[in-house]
Amino acid sequence: MRIPSFIYLYDSGKTESLNLNEISQYLKNIFKKSKIQIRDDIITCYLSNFFFKEREKVIDNLANQMTKIKVREIEIKNTVFEPLQGEIEYEKKRLSESGNKSFGILYDGFELMTILSKLIAKEESDFSYCHIVFTNQLFSTWDEGDLRYHARVSVYGFPSVISTTGIVEAPAKPREFYLKKQLWIDIYTLKEEFRGRFIDYDDLRMTEVMKGYVLQAIFYHITGNPFCKDKNCRLYNAHWQEEVIQAQLNKNSEYCKKHQKIIKQFGTENFKNEYI
Ligand SMILES: [Zn+2]
Repeated sequence: MRIPSFIYLYDSGKTESLNLNEISQYLKNIFKKSKIQIRDDIITCYLSNFFFKEREKVIDNLANQMTKIKVREIEIKNTVFEPLQGEIEYEKKRLSESGNKSFGILYDGFELMTILSKLIAKEESDFSYCHIVFTNQLFSTWDEGDLRYHARVSVYGFPSVISTTGIVEAPAKPREFYLKKQLWIDIYTLKEEFRGRFIDYDDLRMTEVMKGYVLQAIFYHITGNPFCKDKNCRLYNAHWQEEVIQAQLNKNSEYCKKHQKIIKQFGTENFKNEYI
């Protein structure tokens, strides 16, 4: 367990409401000894290693892999489908034009992480490097409890992947929202009525909320444990939108006392494993 010397933030989401400079500054205040760097889309970074002619092959290969990790049936794990040519073309276009959104497609989060992990250079693959990829792709993970896929905000690993679409779609909105939705009230009217009680696309609170998820990713990197049980701590694993708002936005102090203490140690020579 050690503090990473390098923390790289990949701007693969191209989300206007997400300000990576602000997040980078936030991290600099905590990890005073680490080098924090914002990078372009992880795919663009990877493709820059190849000459033009090779790039097409690399994109073809990646597009093939991406079509295979689409979740096609929410209640069936790892369905194997032969992808249609149109699907491969769609992925090729998305991969070659950085910033394209992939609305309506749900990917397997851990499989996505595996694909992205292969794009990281060998010399940056040890634990002194922490890679965090922001994406607008929506992904899910299989839940052994109720035997279905659930959309997620983040998957933590090497690299960690955080979704700006996931923060809108994954944590559940207030129960009354769904009850009213069943009454066929249109989504725009409903969103207006519940405004402020969930994170929406282009939400001005996106950057503030994402600071907590970035810290979860780094806690995972350092300790293997990204979550806290305290609902008022940014490391709380929220499943409801109102919990996200409580953990990330409604507070006098950002972290619980225990995590506050650990975070203070991160920037100093005094950091010891015993705090974890
Ligand atoms: Zn905590």
